[in-house]
Amino acid sequence: MKYISEFRQQDLARQLARAIAQTADPDRHYRLMEFCGGHTHAIFRYGVQDLMPANVEFIHGPGCPVCVLPTGRIENAIQLAERHDVILCTYADLMRVPAIGRNSLLKAKAGGCDIRMVYSTQDVLKIARENPGRPVVFFAIGFETTTPPTAVAIQQAQAKRLTNFSVFCNHVLTPAAMQAILDAPQPVSIDAFLGPSHVSTVIGSQAYEPFAERYAKPVVIAGFEPLDVMQSALMLIRQLNEGRHEVENEYSRAVTRQGNLKAQALMREIFELRPQFEWRGLGLIADSALKLKADYADFDAEQRFNLPAIQAADVKGCECPAILRGAKKPQDCKLLGTVCTPENPMGSCMVSSEGACAAYWSYGRLSRKSG
Ligand code: SF4
Repeated sequence: MKYISEFRQQDLARQLARAIAQTADPDRHYRLMEFCGGHTHAIFRYGVQDLMPANVEFIHGPGCPVCVLPTGRIENAIQLAERHDVILCTYADLMRVPAIGRNSLLKAKAGGCDIRMVYSTQDVLKIARENPGRPVVFFAIGFETTTPPTAVAIQQAQAKRLTNFSVFCNHVLTPAAMQAILDAPQPVSIDAFLGPSHVSTVIGSQAYEPFAERYAKPVVIAGFEPLDVMQSALMLIRQLNEGRHEVENEYSRAVTRQGNLKAQALMREIFELRPQFEWRGLGLIADSALKLKADYADFDAEQRFNLPAIQAADVKGCECPAILRGAKKPQDCKLLGTVCTPENPMGSCMVSSEGACAAYWSYGRLSRKSG
């Protein structure tokens, strides 16, 4: 398959591994944060970490949209379905994330709530059209990749006067999270970033230029295939060796410097910045998430149902918050593979298909540092 198989070739992977081993300075340690959960899974699925010299380490970042959503927002969604007779529509990954008291959307659905898994926002609009007497809420999550389809759905609902449709908006912004990691009071030691692939097709590589400049951290936008990740690691190691801190684009087959201007204009038309938003693991981050503009308030579920802010603790012992900051790895969690499994998840990082704990479980990296 073009654009996939050629980025998984073993002989090229071996060549790249040799080049990385020759380029990496044995006297220094390279800590490369892969921001995106898709990269985490590529690294473990294809054993990329095993092809690196011992002094080149991948640090898992907060780029999994399901993982970074705090428990309180999931509780909001459950309450929407329980208390307001809403048809709640969302993507499958959210269904089993633990909410308060180990409840979940899946358990709420089993208890009689009308919660439906959808594949696209167009599915939600169809459900709204077919159920004119019921409020239909789309539980929208995701980074800049999934935001434009939500914007399109809102425009279409407005054009078709679909008054029973609304959006519980939880769209978040990648650059704000990157800045929060770098500005943390006790920042994690990170030398460079592998920039996300899909997000960057929308926001463009220029979105990372301020970070590279202000924080002197090289960024390489990396594709999702194993050779993409290895090539990007090599580019980062070269920059670090040469004392450069630039934004480079390894994923040039899909990402431009400007990004998708049409999608950006659409997002600006429908959404505006929230003053602050809570992230699991990173806490409250200013200007890090989107809400609907006043012109589209009729489609804003938070306003329509007057949703309260809910504070909720994570499951005791779950290390998801530290993992999402890059401060710990899944094998540092004593619950990994014991009480926490994909069938019985204790935290979001085990549930999501992009979560770091799910990657460790799926690809057999379960040995723990402690316990
Ligand atoms: S293994 Fe489970 S409990 Fe531990 S950090 Fe991951 S999701 Fe949380």
